[in-house]
Amino acid sequence: MLYSSPAITAYVFFVVTLVGLCMGSFLNCLAWRSAHGESVLKGRSHCDSCGHELGFRDLIPVVSWLSTRGRCRYCGERVSVRNPVTELVCAAAFVSILLVWNISYEAIELMAFACVLLVLSLTDIDSYVIPNGCIVAAVAVRLLYLAWVHFFVGFDVSGLLVQCLISAAGVGGAILLVVLLMDKALGRESMGFGDVKLLAVAAFYFGWRECLLLIIVACLIGLVVAAVGQRHGEPAGSVADAGARVIPWGPSIAAACWFVMLFGTPIMLWYIGIF
Ligand SMILES: [Zn+2]
Repeated sequence: MLYSSPAITAYVFFVVTLVGLCMGSFLNCLAWRSAHGESVLKGRSHCDSCGHELGFRDLIPVVSWLSTRGRCRYCGERVSVRNPVTELVCAAAFVSILLVWNISYEAIELMAFACVLLVLSLTDIDSYVIPNGCIVAAVAVRLLYLAWVHFFVGFDVSGLLVQCLISAAGVGGAILLVVLLMDKALGRESMGFGDVKLLAVAAFYFGWRECLLLIIVACLIGLVVAAVGQRHGEPAGSVADAGARVIPWGPSIAAACWFVMLFGTPIMLWYIGIF
């Protein structure tokens, strides 16, 4: 359907890009407010420095930031580059999911999951916490999708649901065991429990096979992030160190989830084809 005519293709990509940019802006605000103890729903958007209420022309994703060269229009204080970056990342996630999954229920499910991953990445960067609310939201999205496919599309998902639950329990249990053993061996916390829960959620989405691929990718991204962090003078030790406190591992897991959303199925088919 997406490619039935060039006009429809262009229109859908345009709309999805726009929705992705606006969603990124909203999620950035959501993560910032929840990290700073502000109400998520109440109060208009305002400048973090001077508190001036933001108008329409201050709230256009990316464009507003570029037009004021990354400064507040009212007080001239710097506005974090994180705002436009989050908006662009969200748009890129939406567009890439649309490219791979076309117009489908899976695409909508994965876009919603991507939103949750974006929020938990931001809060993990800010406060080294993956909120339980994000874990619950991710599970709810998956269950809603399965329920929709089961009751409205008419595809029996009971077998798939059992597989997903076993994958989540298996991956979550195995990693929890490894973490507890590592904690004991090192005599300190090796990895946050939020990361364990997030990996169990990933297995709930992608199944244990693709989740193994996801863990490898997350470790590789974590290593690169730790190495870059070290070069920039931030103390970082092993991946376990990076995962524990110095550099949050949540964003790496989230990026690996994005990778598996796009390339998990073809890589698995290729891998199975080898044998
Ligand atoms: Zn200001």
